[in-house]
Amino acid sequence: MVHIAIIGSGPSGCYVADILAKKIPDSQIDLFDKLPTPFGLVRAGVAPDHLHTKNITRQFERILSRENIRFAGNINLGTDISYAELKQHYHIIVIASGAPLDNKLNIEGESLNGVYGAGEISRWYNGHPEFAGLQIPYEAAPDNVSEFFRTGFGSNLSVNISAPSTETTSYNLSFARTNEEGYIPSNENMETSVPGVYSAGDIRVKDLRQIVTATGDGSIAAEQAQKFVEEINEKTKVAK
Ligand SMILES: Cc1cc2nc3c(=O)[nH]c(=O)nc-3n(C[C@H](O)[C@H](O)[C@H](O)COP(=O)(O)OP(=O)(O)OC[C@H]3O[C@@H](n4cnc5c(N)ncnc54)[C@H](O)[C@@H]3O)c2cc1C
Repeated sequence: MVHIAIIGSGPSGCYVADILAKKIPDSQIDLFDKLPTPFGLVRAGVAPDHLHTKNITRQFERILSRENIRFAGNINLGTDISYAELKQHYHIIVIASGAPLDNKLNIEGESLNGVYGAGEISRWYNGHPEFAGLQIPYEAAPDNVSEFFRTGFGSNLSVNISAPSTETTSYNLSFARTNEEGYIPSNENMETSVPGVYSAGDIRVKDLRQIVTATGDGSIAAEQAQKFVEEINEKTKVAK
């Protein structure tokens, strides 16, 4: 039985799980998320009126109902579980923890009270538990509240507004090479600097990131992880 741990249940993590569950039927896949609920930014980032985009969660729900996939919410890599523990129990580890912070624009006034990143606001109004306490002074908004929010939401805010958290930086230092901005870089095969450890989705590179790129990364990571398992099996046979 091949044991696989995936950190993060956003589009990238869900796709890795789906493909590996099919490619390696003799596998147990554990999908960990620090939030109590799955689906990452599709649930907590994508604007609530983009129902068509959010509909992809139906597909993800089917993935999570597969027999050899378990979802474990409220488990934060770095505090509730360590990389050393994962390595002890899993043959393959995929980091798909996303880029949950807003990019700094480095413009004047950026840190003034009342100035929020679009990602922050979208998490707050999507009910992300870590942003529930955000004090948005919407009483001060113009008559039409939607006008107030339009500044941030009028254009394609999914483009390049996110950055990894420092929390991510602290947990990954112990195993995979990180770059100065906290991403966990991986090559075009999603391989990190550690064999058997992959990074996929928004966490791997600062770039234009969307659901489609995250799921694409997930597919590649799964393919490579399957090859890795086959190679190990082959070596074990030869050694016998
Ligand atoms: C405001 C906003 C709107 C967007 N709108 C669109 C859109 O309309 N269309 C589109 O295609 N893309 C959109 N995007 C981009 C898209 O949502 C992301 O590119 C995509 O969700 C990235 O997928 P992911 O799996 O890499 O990461 P995420 O979706 O971020 O999922 C990562 C998961 O990892 C979990 N996690 C993080 N750290 C840990 C840890 N230490 N331990 C355990 N779990 C952890 C998180 O809780 C999260 O569930 C938007 C992004 C934002 C911010």
